[in-house]
Amino acid sequence: MLRYAQDVDGAHSKRRSLRSAEILAVGAELTVGDTRDTNSGEIARSLTEAGATVARINVLPDRLRVVAGAFRAALRRADLVVSTGGLGPTPDDLTREAIALVVRETPQVDPALETWLRQLWTRRGLTFPEINRKQAWLIPSATPLPNPNGTAPGWWIDRPDGRVAVLLPGPPREMRPMWTEHVLPRLRERGLGRGLLSRTLRLSGIGESQVADVLGDQLLRRTNPEIATYARADAVDIRISAVGPASAARAARRGPGRSATQLLDETEALVLARLGAYVWARGSTTWAEAIATELDRLGWSLAIRETGTDGALGRLLGGMPRLRRLEYLPGGRTTGGEIEAEARATASLSRAEVGLAVDARPRRDDTLITIAIATPTGVQRERHLGFLGGVQGRSRAALLASATLLRRLRAIERAGPAD
Ligand code: ATP
Ligand code: MG
Repeated sequence: MLRYAQDVDGAHSKRRSLRSAEILAVGAELTVGDTRDTNSGEIARSLTEAGATVARINVLPDRLRVVAGAFRAALRRADLVVSTGGLGPTPDDLTREAIALVVRETPQVDPALETWLRQLWTRRGLTFPEINRKQAWLIPSATPLPNPNGTAPGWWIDRPDGRVAVLLPGPPREMRPMWTEHVLPRLRERGLGRGLLSRTLRLSGIGESQVADVLGDQLLRRTNPEIATYARADAVDIRISAVGPASAARAARRGPGRSATQLLDETEALVLARLGAYVWARGSTTWAEAIATELDRLGWSLAIRETGTDGALGRLLGGMPRLRRLEYLPGGRTTGGEIEAEARATASLSRAEVGLAVDARPRRDDTLITIAIATPTGVQRERHLGFLGGVQGRSRAALLASATLLRRLRAIERAGPAD
């Protein structure tokens, strides 16, 4: 492996690290709308998590010129190009032909692959269809990627400039295991995402567009560090990622460059100065985890009663450690008392220190949300109008109840031994 890098660069350090990627989904069934391209999204997510930047996703028909053109352009722009589809035995499966054209190599039947392929049929007492021989093809710069669930091996292609092309079959059940078991580990070995650091801030009580507004175009257009916002079901996430200036080889020896951390620190401080009040967690922390952490700190347990939410709070916090009781009452009926009393009652019924009662009811197109939280230090009530109705209004109620509870718990000092 090292010899390869030296051969290519003449020196021992310049091996290209794989930072940018493009994905090609090949298949007429995709471009006519018969099949949805799910492969690209799965691969894109995996690459992004691994620290690469997916710059483009292309969906292409089974046309030699179109596919070859797409490979050529992608290999000019990106460090890594991944394709799925078109590795079947029929003449309209021509991804191999396309890449061979681009790298100017001629496919030949690989004897080892042919033996493996033939025995798939002979083992079952069937005659090998000569049309499938094409699936044993290889070009000199490609190594085969085993496909235990089909007849089409993938291709891993190393380009002289350090770029990589990976060809995978189209059927998701074939593509997925090849990706996780063979491609991803090999990409990591080749430095995928090396030197890239990222941090995620989780916000509540503010919408994604408002976040973007506050951050402003200037910050959001920066590329290193890069700031991206994501509207998730349980939060608006801000992800800050940065790459250090160290070369791939130096980064490999020393770990991520120090300056990537500095870049992150500076940018995070900027973001926190503007939006810190909305940040309730970091990384991939869930509401259940954040609340359980506070309950742990205080040594308390929790009981919940939700009314009119269709169980939305239970879905968010159910199964959480230190949750003693979870009651759900359908909406539309009066529980006959003050919500503060309900919070106290649900706590005392299960001998929990903390009782949370939430009530959601439709008010025209909106949802009226009432929340009461009883703790050993007192009981508090809040009322909000959520500007959403139906399912969205109910899930807003659950999020608001969680956020209110978390804020309240965080404000309470650790209970002394006298308690
Ligand atoms: P095979 O050897 O099975 O023919 P192949 O690599 O030639 O493999 P295709 O013929 O392009 O793959 O696609 C086979 C099937 O896989 C399609 O009919 C479709 O159901 C599924 N498929 C292909 N591409 C995708 C994609 N991008 N997303 C989801 N499913 C896909
Ligand atoms: Mg096919």
